[in-house]
Amino acid sequence: MGHEHLPIATRFGDHWLASHYNVRLEAVSTLGRRTPIIQRLVRRIDRRGPDECWPWTGRTVKGRGKLRLNDGKDLNCARALWAIVHGPIPQGYGICHTCDNRICLNMRHLFLGTQQDNIADMVAKGRQRGPCGERARHNKLTAAQVTEIRALIGQRVNRREIAARYGMAVCSIHDIRARRSWKHIP
Ligand SMILES: [Zn+2]
Repeated sequence: MGHEHLPIATRFGDHWLASHYNVRLEAVSTLGRRTPIIQRLVRRIDRRGPDECWPWTGRTVKGRGKLRLNDGKDLNCARALWAIVHGPIPQGYGICHTCDNRICLNMRHLFLGTQQDNIADMVAKGRQRGPCGERARHNKLTAAQVTEIRALIGQRVNRREIAARYGMAVCSIHDIRARRSWKHIP
């Protein structure tokens, strides 16, 4: 383990790292700066209760936490954190939030979603103009299926199971439940 990792362990403790991020310290890169990325991330995360949102308190661009790198590029904090904890993010995937709080960096609220989910999420949140519901080209569901999905959620059927049954990503099911998508269907 390189000596540059010691400040993190000293500041937050091995136990904290293990329980909250399961960080592989040898995988942490400084990306050209003296301070390792994990430390730059962690010191600006407002760490609260285990199941609460942990807001990013640093710089944001369009509501997403960002770190400026030496080459002037921005690093997406949620993606960086995910990559440090779980390894490389597969092509075509992004980081979704079960809590829908974009600045949240509690690993328990982050999960992988497809680009299609991100587009659906953008349309649902009104950041991109587009048709809603059945007419939207990204949308694979019919209005009847949305009603079925909401009924299944009401019966406390596991979200992953629902997602698998309809060929959707879990974050799309969350959007339907929270009425960020298909809000015109009761
Ligand atoms: Zn959260």
